[in-house]
Amino acid sequence: MGLRTGRQYLDSLRDGRQVYLEGHRVDDVTADPRLGLTAQTVAELYDMQHDAKWRDTLTLPGPDGERMPMACMQPRTIEDLARRRAAMKVWADATCGLFGRTPDFMNLGIATLAAASHVFDQSASGRNFAANVQAYYEKVCREDLTMTHIQVNPAVDRSKQVFQQTRDIALKIVKETDAGFYVNGMRLVGTLAQFANEIVVMPSVVVANDDKAGDYAFAFVTPVAAEGVKIISRPSVVPQNPGHFLDHPLSIQYDEGDAVIVFENVFVPWERTFIFRDPAMCNAIYKQTFLAEHYSHQTMTRALAKAEFMAGLACKMAAATKVDSFPNVQAQLAELLIFVETQKALLMQSEQLAMPTGFGTVAPSKMTLHAAQLHFYDRYAKMIDAVRTIGAGNLIGVPSYAELSGEIGPLVSEYMATATMEADERIQLTRLAADASFSAFSGRQALYERYYQGDPVRKVCSYYFEYPKDELTGRIDRLLESLGEKARRLSS
Ligand SMILES: Cc1cc2nc3c(=O)[nH]c(=O)nc-3n(C[C@H](O)[C@H](O)[C@H](O)COP(=O)(O)OP(=O)(O)OC[C@H]3O[C@@H](n4cnc5c(N)ncnc54)[C@H](O)[C@@H]3O)c2cc1C
Repeated sequence: MGLRTGRQYLDSLRDGRQVYLEGHRVDDVTADPRLGLTAQTVAELYDMQHDAKWRDTLTLPGPDGERMPMACMQPRTIEDLARRRAAMKVWADATCGLFGRTPDFMNLGIATLAAASHVFDQSASGRNFAANVQAYYEKVCREDLTMTHIQVNPAVDRSKQVFQQTRDIALKIVKETDAGFYVNGMRLVGTLAQFANEIVVMPSVVVANDDKAGDYAFAFVTPVAAEGVKIISRPSVVPQNPGHFLDHPLSIQYDEGDAVIVFENVFVPWERTFIFRDPAMCNAIYKQTFLAEHYSHQTMTRALAKAEFMAGLACKMAAATKVDSFPNVQAQLAELLIFVETQKALLMQSEQLAMPTGFGTVAPSKMTLHAAQLHFYDRYAKMIDAVRTIGAGNLIGVPSYAELSGEIGPLVSEYMATATMEADERIQLTRLAADASFSAFSGRQALYERYYQGDPVRKVCSYYFEYPKDELTGRIDRLLESLGEKARRLSS
């Protein structure tokens, strides 16, 4: 089939999927006023793959000669990582880094699993799944699919294991047949679920190594439109009946949607299964496949695009009314520019420190990427704060862009111009800054940065445990030894 056009992607979403939003089932996500423009945003990304300007950056020839998305590449060298990053940056820049789960995120995830597919043949269940992972990878690349992924069990009682819950609502295996198995229950959170073709159900984070956890320990893939799959969306942050598109340009285009997904006795054929009743494999899989490293290569590329967008926005806002002539504002802007450079440096360094995986590919440095990631949500909060404080009262004093063409247009043109900008540009810029810094959309963005890849509290603990500290502590040992020797020499 090869690379899809935006039109083909939009057509693929009209498949009878069960998407629920604000109390009603959505008949056609591409035509819904709260979802349609996001679908359009993804379609535009697909069209970019066909644009002569981007084709060679965004795509590469696949094994069958047809071109496939660059994120399907299985990187074998540092240069491959840089090439993949360049592709991911193009889509991230096209969406100001505000669209977390562009399709490259999960394409790269499946390519990573496939490169390590042998791991899936070492199952405690005795079944071999490597061929399934490989076949799915080939399908995803050949059909240029969009996927969402879900790996978190519902929050009922977080102090207990999933199999000890008083309400047994987490997604679990309920029946096994010769052809496959049935699952029932819920998982969260599927970002982009309303706009995806497929759901990748990944192992939930930390499954107890206990037989009782077996029913909850699996990985599989299923179409979004599979019978029994219900996508229950959070309320939309897209303003309805806005005065003008330019008042909320980010909210309107980039609300990628988050949803919990309920599976009502959904059938999963064996050929779509990656892990089955295997807590040990669920816990090992991220490490053995280097999935966390590769995921973070995409997310930190996107974070760089976002940092650049926010820094550019803050600088432009400051220049609009010349508040960048004040040292306090200069310091605040410099801090954002330092964030950009730090992010860039960490991303590039992660590639330079790439390690062979042992199965022909390379993985960027996890410690470097996770350092970037664990800092980013704090830095992002500071960026939002900088746009707010630099924008200050302007953010609410500047009216709708629609006023320019309304009854009081000439008045607004006169009063909204600044020392450096005509009213048209100033209003457009300020509404963009307001959308990026204090809209419902921007609040969701901040929450996303904190949690999209797991709980930062527990991630920081893992960072401490996984960091190769011996080299550092060894230095302290040697220093203590030499100080002791020196002290003995001095006292003798
Ligand atoms: C906008 C957004 C998009 C997301 N997109 C996706 C997605 O596409 N796919 C996906 O799979 N997931 C996604 N997630 C889910 C994300 O992975 C989870 O939010 C994250 O793992 C944290 O889990 P939780 O939200 O259930 O919080 P909980 O686990 O319920 O934690 C709530 C609070 O309690 C604390 N806490 C809970 N348990 C412990 C513990 N054992 N030790 C110490 N502290 C604890 C946490 O630190 C946290 O502050 C998304 C989340 C958000 C907010």
